[in-house]
Amino acid sequence: VIELGTPDRSVVTTCAYCGVGCSFKAEMQGDQLVRMVPYKHGKANRGHSCVKGRFAYGYASHSDRILNPMIRDSVDQPWKEVSWEEALDFAAKKLVGLQAKYGQKSIGVITSSRCTNEETYLVQKLTRAVFGNNNTDTCARVCHSPTGYGLGQTFGTSAGTQDFDSVEKSDVIIVIGANPTDGHPVFASRLRKRLRQGAKLIVVDPRRIDLLHTPHMGEGHHLPLKPGTNVAVVSALSHVIVTEGLMDEAFIKARCDLDAWEDYKAFISEDRHAPEATEALTGVPAATLRDAARAFATGGNGAIYYGLGVTEHSQGSTTVMAIANLAMMTGNIGREGVGVNPLRGQNNVQGSCDMGSFPHEFPGYRHVHGDEVRQMFEQVWGVSLDAEPGLRIPNMLDAAVDGTFKGLYCQGEDILQSDPDTKHVAAGLAAMDCVIVHDLFLNETANYAHVFLPGSTFLEKDGTFTNAERRINRVRKVMAPKNGYADWEVTQMLANAVLKETGGARWTYTHPAEIMDEIADTTPSFAGVDYALLEAEGSVQWPCNEEHPIGTPLMHVDGFMRGKGRFIVTEYIPTDEKTGPRFPLLLTTGRILSQYNVGAQTRRTENSLWHDQDLLEIHPHDAENRGLKDGDWVRLASRSGETSLRAKVTDRVSPGVVYTTFHHPDTQANVITTEYSDWATNCPEYKVTAVQVAASNGP
Ligand code: SF4
Repeated sequence: VIELGTPDRSVVTTCAYCGVGCSFKAEMQGDQLVRMVPYKHGKANRGHSCVKGRFAYGYASHSDRILNPMIRDSVDQPWKEVSWEEALDFAAKKLVGLQAKYGQKSIGVITSSRCTNEETYLVQKLTRAVFGNNNTDTCARVCHSPTGYGLGQTFGTSAGTQDFDSVEKSDVIIVIGANPTDGHPVFASRLRKRLRQGAKLIVVDPRRIDLLHTPHMGEGHHLPLKPGTNVAVVSALSHVIVTEGLMDEAFIKARCDLDAWEDYKAFISEDRHAPEATEALTGVPAATLRDAARAFATGGNGAIYYGLGVTEHSQGSTTVMAIANLAMMTGNIGREGVGVNPLRGQNNVQGSCDMGSFPHEFPGYRHVHGDEVRQMFEQVWGVSLDAEPGLRIPNMLDAAVDGTFKGLYCQGEDILQSDPDTKHVAAGLAAMDCVIVHDLFLNETANYAHVFLPGSTFLEKDGTFTNAERRINRVRKVMAPKNGYADWEVTQMLANAVLKETGGARWTYTHPAEIMDEIADTTPSFAGVDYALLEAEGSVQWPCNEEHPIGTPLMHVDGFMRGKGRFIVTEYIPTDEKTGPRFPLLLTTGRILSQYNVGAQTRRTENSLWHDQDLLEIHPHDAENRGLKDGDWVRLASRSGETSLRAKVTDRVSPGVVYTTFHHPDTQANVITTEYSDWATNCPEYKVTAVQVAASNGP
């Protein structure tokens, strides 16, 4: 008799939570997963893990999973379980009918950064080659789309510049708008190790995050800015460096566009950017800002790590470019220990963007306008392609409300819970005639769906994820899909069901390795990637091609991807979201270690024991003014809506700022958030909402 707990085989695969991309050995007994053991040869984690990757996999066998396809004619009818063939036939006929009635561009897709590269590639191919439009978008829209824009404009490509190992050579580290100990725990351990070895830390964050309490660390600076003033703070740092002559003139002269530098230098030297001029605006004492700027510019290798506290703002893209300016002016690009590093929230945000999930870009960040690249894809896919960019997620919802967008295939994404302005999302979904939800669970979006296609977990499929350091890690099938098909197979079946109606050639992929081969054939940064190489090397970092046959740990070493690095003038423009007498506090949001995003997975595991509700952090002064004690129920209200949660009185937040997590659907954090978004990418401004907090009797 073999007792559970005695594995008889193991499979190396990749964690499906955050962008660190830890490798695990899934230890199996028959078809039962016994435990996940951090893989000591994993290049991203070197044998370490956090409580999510190690313990929060039980959702894969949770009884809430829907394993059979379902359809219904309207959302007020009950679901009817049907065969895969019937569900796909029903979906295809609806989509084709909508296009016939409302036009080629009346349908689209939303894909997920939780899915593999191969799945994401197929979803954008479905949109472009089968639906015949570019209405494809990704949940990266609501997190790191400003990274794509900002780093593309300044450096020439949307990717972090370093590998994780690089932090071991850093001497001074800026962490801005990120809380790595909760959001990216395994990387945070490496960062803390470097801090204990004496590296200096500069934290730019409205909260006093745990990293600032690292035992035995070197010098630390906390810049407790008011939410929404990132650009002003980074500009003040740059102003000090430029006006005090602390720039790396040799780097700028050799590596950067000098006309752009002169324009930027004149702009940033203006007195209005000085710490003393911006202190009242940002809330950061001028002396603290000056000390931090000098520490960064003169402290040796300077690295910058940032998260959604940078991107999810009306000036998210501007802040990314301001950060890139800061790195270039101090010569902190192109060697170990330096760089600009977005900490990606989801396991495959990098990959989802790389694979052409945005409505204006083919895989490899090439604009759909480009005749040469479009003709190449037309030849490979055997169809004509649309040269006009498609709709972003918010545009799809707006068009649905206006009656011109009628059908949506939504893979692995619960937009009703995770996107801002819940009422508007609901109105958009309700106005569509065909919503297809492809997911593990009947999520909130499925309330508005006509077709439900069961999804597969990361344990049930082959493929690859690309982590925050551009590392392409293998995802290996550990067990057969409980729903019968991996997600890439479902997308292929949907494509073929539509093609049966419209008459195109069927798709015939038999394994994700074939999809990767097509990605390599069509995408220069992946040209050298295939599954044999990934088996041999364990993982590789793109660009991986003839020039870099086993990948590229450090980007922009001899020159920027765009040639010369481009400084960009980054004018601070205040958000339209203002505090006032009715809404005097600013709400910002973040994550907690044991939970993940809207909690669809972690809440269905024992991790929920560690965090069973979202709390509202409030400063003791603000709590006292409202007669609140720790643990009291409060009503949290904004101009958009209101919700109830319990108060946590703490001086981790500054007076005037409140903070909560968004892992529990009861909290309905996105009922509170605003309609504002990044000017360049429409990434929602989740991080700044004017609110009022008052005692309440609970929900
Ligand atoms: Fe998974 Fe991220 Fe935790 Fe690693 S650090 S185990 S990738 S959630």
